[in-house]
Amino acid sequence: MSSQIPAKGGSADEQGPRSLSVDEARRRILGEITPITTAERVALRAALGRTLAETLVARCDVPSSTNSAMDGFALRGSDLPANGTTELELVGESLAGHPFHGEVASGRCVRIMTGAPIPTGADTVVMQEQAEDLAGRVRIGSGHKPGQNVRRAGEDVAAGDALFEPGRTLTPADLGLIASLGLAEVMVRRRPRVAFFSTGDELRTIGQPLGEGEIYDSNRYTLFGMLTRVGVDILDLGAIPDVPEQLEDALRRGSAEADVVITSGGVSVGEADYVKDLLARIGRMGFWKIAMKPGRPLTFGHIGECLFFGLPGNPVAVMVTFYQFVQPALLKLATGREEPPFLVEAEAMCRLRKRPGRTEFLRGTLTRGADGVLQVDLAGRQGSGVLRSMSLASCFILLPEEHGDLEPGEKVLVQPFEALI
Ligand code: AMP
Ligand code: MG
Repeated sequence: MSSQIPAKGGSADEQGPRSLSVDEARRRILGEITPITTAERVALRAALGRTLAETLVARCDVPSSTNSAMDGFALRGSDLPANGTTELELVGESLAGHPFHGEVASGRCVRIMTGAPIPTGADTVVMQEQAEDLAGRVRIGSGHKPGQNVRRAGEDVAAGDALFEPGRTLTPADLGLIASLGLAEVMVRRRPRVAFFSTGDELRTIGQPLGEGEIYDSNRYTLFGMLTRVGVDILDLGAIPDVPEQLEDALRRGSAEADVVITSGGVSVGEADYVKDLLARIGRMGFWKIAMKPGRPLTFGHIGECLFFGLPGNPVAVMVTFYQFVQPALLKLATGREEPPFLVEAEAMCRLRKRPGRTEFLRGTLTRGADGVLQVDLAGRQGSGVLRSMSLASCFILLPEEHGDLEPGEKVLVQPFEALI
């Protein structure tokens, strides 16, 4: 084997002519994606996590009327004493849902509850705890400001405001805001449809007995989990043996029914690795080597209008490549948004071995040290088939292409799993 160290993306290395950097590969993939525009109208609850397809303009103010931020007494700011105390006549009450209908004249006040409309004439609320209730009269001291403890109509959202633009992924807070406008339904984009299958003669489906040299198909379960969390419609096409005709059938079926087809396995250079040849024949192949570990032999391309990701077979490599490439691609497909990976800095707690020339994704556990600094340790054995390391981990440790070994105490970038969904 040559002692040549592969240089940055696009150079020769020992297994083939071209390796793309992770960033370049992601850029190219995103460049190939046309966001879904088909829309449907759904009930508000069903819109959680969906992509908004319309501009939502507020048809009314939120709050709809000027109201109290406190339990207390509503009065005219001009009646507040500059010093000493003053007494006001208590003439009624305004409760949430039961406003006071008269006017609050000078020298008078109304008992008011949080959220209740400020009656005509009043413009200020004095907290209950800062007033003395004298049965029919209320004594108030100095130190208050006219207009205090009042929430203005439209303070949260003003009628006519563009609240959300198309492409927004609706959050729980968004559902609340939309509900506060009284809207029962919203237009959202169709969810991406993703078909996937595993490849390999050695694969057995859970529930069946294992023969010699056989393994259970675990990739379809991690893929199911990751895709479900991303929020796409899924079509599980099963485990397909390394038989070109069967693989072709599955590819054709998946690409006919879905926006994206994902496979695992069969993309390296072994004899039974048919996936990329099939893709080159029935679709278009983008590339298949990325300067990264794990996940080096990744295939990306098209079958007709359908996007194709041929992920490696190794269980950890499946998850790493999914999060680095497939998830950003699905986000763009669903929303039009391109978001850079969310990375934070942490201190390495142990030595990290790293070969220059490729980006490495180690599995780490993130903790906060006594001094408040984020620290990261390795989560178990790091082989690309050791899925347990993913299960134990709470983040990826991302070691950039140019880096060599890192010593304890050095700063590294980590990608928290929470930010990946
Ligand atoms: P391949 O890329 O097909 O050569 O697979 C690489 C490694 O990942 C082999 O050890 C396979 O047995 C393993 N592997 C492939 N597919 C799966 C799967 N669906 N579940 C678990 N392991 C798999
Ligand atoms: Mg295989």
